[in-house]
Amino acid sequence: MAKRDYYEVLGVDKTASDDEIKKAYRKIAIKYHPDRNPDDKEAEEKFKEAAEAYDVLHDPQKRQQYDQFGFNGPQNGGFGGFSGGGMDMDDIFSMFGDIFGGHSGFSGFGGFSGGGQRQQYRGNDLRLKVKLSLLEISTGVTKKFKVRKDVVCDHCHGSGAEAGSGSETCSTCQGRGVVVRSVRTMLGMMQTQTECPTCHGEGSVIKNKCKVCGGNGVVKGEEVVEINIPAGVAEGMVVNVPGKGNAGPHNGVNGNIQVLIEEEPNDLFVRDGQDVIYNLLLDFPTATLGGDIDIPTITGSKVRIKIEPGTQPGKTLRLRNKGLPAVQGYGSGTGDLVVNISVFVPKTLTKEEKKSIESFKNSDNFKGDSVTRKTIFEKFKNYFN
Ligand SMILES: [Zn+2]
Ligand SMILES: [Zn+2]
Repeated sequence: MAKRDYYEVLGVDKTASDDEIKKAYRKIAIKYHPDRNPDDKEAEEKFKEAAEAYDVLHDPQKRQQYDQFGFNGPQNGGFGGFSGGGMDMDDIFSMFGDIFGGHSGFSGFGGFSGGGQRQQYRGNDLRLKVKLSLLEISTGVTKKFKVRKDVVCDHCHGSGAEAGSGSETCSTCQGRGVVVRSVRTMLGMMQTQTECPTCHGEGSVIKNKCKVCGGNGVVKGEEVVEINIPAGVAEGMVVNVPGKGNAGPHNGVNGNIQVLIEEEPNDLFVRDGQDVIYNLLLDFPTATLGGDIDIPTITGSKVRIKIEPGTQPGKTLRLRNKGLPAVQGYGSGTGDLVVNISVFVPKTLTKEEKKSIESFKNSDNFKGDSVTRKTIFEKFKNYFN
């Protein structure tokens, strides 16, 4: 089945505010909530579809990427993280704290989240920023970061228990992992099951907690992580690195690292998507007589180009495939190096120079011809349109 546009799913405009998105999602979530529509596959699909749309649109970064690139992003190790094949119900319920203003109030609602399945702990994601030069962007780069994060406790190897100490049934929930509570919701007072606050859903507690980590199985630590940034990335993109974030408590799943890309300003070039623009200020004799000029490229090497005699300011040359590669999954091929030519008119002249220029003043060759005038006029017109 083709995926529907996220804005369409929530029935909001592309310009909808965060609040409008939240309201729209809340309405759909209540309508199609599995607890109100037991055994209704269609409602379940609608519920999940809306949750996925909300997950993307309420996150400014994901929303921007979605607006820019749609659904298609590189999988594993790629961007964003919303394109990787839907969400599971645990993700959806974990969002409810945000949307309904309570904390995990709906997890385990109506036994939908997997009937007593043990929840696995997950470490939080870490966010980093990295500034890249055009050269680094053109080739891709591996960057090392020293990050402070939760790491597995050496003393208990992540179990949270002192050596030789086992666990016992949680006395708060009698091993069920959940407690029943009355919660005020948008639909009125409801009996809901929430995760047991004592054992966090485990059903058991450690008899003798690890003295080093206090029973979590993780401690604060430092790690040097190497992150591969693919070629072609752009300002504002986020590279998701699975499993390099905070260690999950109790030997759970590691979080991710999300790396926000920033571009270093460049003195020579201006980036335009995959193209790179270079402004060449040509000297007057070469523009008139023609000649060879060396142009810098983003790799640092130079490339020689031919300037035709009579080259006009405003002329554009396109050096194929000397721009930036497409970032994996977001296009193909390599951009161009675009050379915009201006011509420098001397501001100071020696007596001799002045004299020789003056001698050309009445020459017809130095007066603008109608074809050139027209070309320049068209360029201006296009510019202002
Ligand atoms: Zn420990
Ligand atoms: Zn418990």
